[in-house]
Amino acid sequence: MTGGEDRFAKAVAGCCEAIVDHADELTDLDRAIGDADHGINMRRGAEAVRERLAELESMEPDRALVEIGKTLVMKVGGASGPLFGTLAMSFGKALAESGGSPAGAAAAFAVAVEAVAKRGKSHRGQKTLLDVLYPVTEGFSSSPEDFGSLPGVAESSAQATVPMQAERGRASFLGERSVGHMDPGSRSVALLVAAAVEAYRSDG
Ligand code: ADP
Ligand code: MG
Repeated sequence: MTGGEDRFAKAVAGCCEAIVDHADELTDLDRAIGDADHGINMRRGAEAVRERLAELESMEPDRALVEIGKTLVMKVGGASGPLFGTLAMSFGKALAESGGSPAGAAAAFAVAVEAVAKRGKSHRGQKTLLDVLYPVTEGFSSSPEDFGSLPGVAESSAQATVPMQAERGRASFLGERSVGHMDPGSRSVALLVAAAVEAYRSDG
C-alpha cells in the first residue's frame, strides 16, 4: 500500500470513530428539530463501514469510496443514508477521473456536492448538510493544498445553521421553531471533515 492509500484508510477509520463517538450528540441535535435518530442512523453506517475496513484498505481510494457509499445507502436509511451515500459514491466516481492531484480531488468533491444537492432536491440556505458542504468545497477548490483550514470552515458553517429556518427534511415541518438549533446533518459533515483532514495532516 502506498502512503496515500494508508492515509486514506486512516481517514476512513477516523471518520467512523468520530461518528460513533458523537452519535449521542447527533441524536440530541435531531431530537430538537427532527425525530431523534440521526446519530443512530450515522452510527449504523459507521459501524457497517468499519466492518469492511480491511477489505476497503485493499482498494484504491476511488473504488473504496464507491463501496462506502453503497454501504451507507444500504445501512443508514432515513434522509441521510442516500445523501451521505451519494456524497461518497459520487466522490469516488469523480476521483477515478481526477488525476490524483489535490486540485483533482477538490474538483471531484465539488462534483459530489452537486450530486447531493440534486439527490436532496435542495440548495444552500435551507439548513441542511449542504450549508457545510458548499463552504467546504469552495475552500477546498480555492486552495486545494491548504486543506488544513477546512475543519474550521466546516465548524463555523455548521454553527451558522443555528439561526436558519429549515426548508428541507423533517426539521422543515417545524417552520420557525427550527430556528435556534444546529442542523444535525451539518454537524455530521463537520465531524467527518475534521477527521478526514486530521488523517491527511498527520505524518504517520
Ligand atoms: P431523517 O430526517 O430521515 O430522520 P436523519 O435524521 O438521519 O434522517 O438526517 C437528517 C439530516 O439530513 C438533516 O439534518 C439534514 O442535514 C439532512 N437532510 C434532510 N433532508 C434533506 C434534503 N432534502 N436535502 C439535503 N439534506 C437533507
Ligand atoms: Mg432524523
